[in-house]
Amino acid sequence: MRIARFRAAGQTRWGVLEMSHLVEYLGSPFGAFRRGRRRYAVSQVVLLPPVVPSKIILVGLNYRDHAVELGLAIPDEPIILFKPPSALAGPGDPIVCPPQSRRVDHEAELAVVIKRRCRNVPAARAHEYVLGYTCLNDVTARDLQTKDVQWARAKAFDTFCPLGPCIATDLDTGVATIEAWVNDTLRQSASTRDMIFPLEEVVARVSEVMTLLPGDVISTGTPPGVGPLYPGDHVEVRIPGIGSLRNPVVGL
Ligand code: MG
Repeated sequence: MRIARFRAAGQTRWGVLEMSHLVEYLGSPFGAFRRGRRRYAVSQVVLLPPVVPSKIILVGLNYRDHAVELGLAIPDEPIILFKPPSALAGPGDPIVCPPQSRRVDHEAELAVVIKRRCRNVPAARAHEYVLGYTCLNDVTARDLQTKDVQWARAKAFDTFCPLGPCIATDLDTGVATIEAWVNDTLRQSASTRDMIFPLEEVVARVSEVMTLLPGDVISTGTPPGVGPLYPGDHVEVRIPGIGSLRNPVVGL
């Protein structure tokens, strides 16, 4: 099932993608969720970020070759940091390059959406608390990340968290492929097999620290190949089985 949130006729709704259509679903994917009667052409609705999380947790440096490209040590446990929910952008929404930065990078990532409130989840049971998976672009002001002692500012600008286009509940995360395309040129390509900490372990380790709530998003890190975005570009995160998250880049 590929679950989307969308706006149609002034209302926000849940739906499930079936070919080029969205079938309306009533209730919530975090509780009772049932098929409705309405159908919409995807081209006739506005897709929204598929969840509104209480928090967006990022894992830094979860691919060996990305740590190497940034000249940073390979971590012995997951490095966790945050983006604020105010940074969310939906499919097709512009990524706005802020005037404070001269170097805004894309980071294509596979993100986990939490289904149920949990704490101290063992890795072997992490799947019981996961609703599904989506694409996340961890847009980063690389120059500010380098300048600042920690990474909050570099990761937190409005529009720096494109998310979507849907939550895939049946993705085989053992062999998923994560790609970034800029202006239809492939810039990042990796497999979940290249992660230092598998996503079940990431969920477990994050849940040792904080209570996870329904809709919370944990992004599992970016592979090598990060690079700059400029106004006029289009950037796309593609994960087969989920879909394509495409956003234009604009200046302020
Ligand atoms: Mg990242």
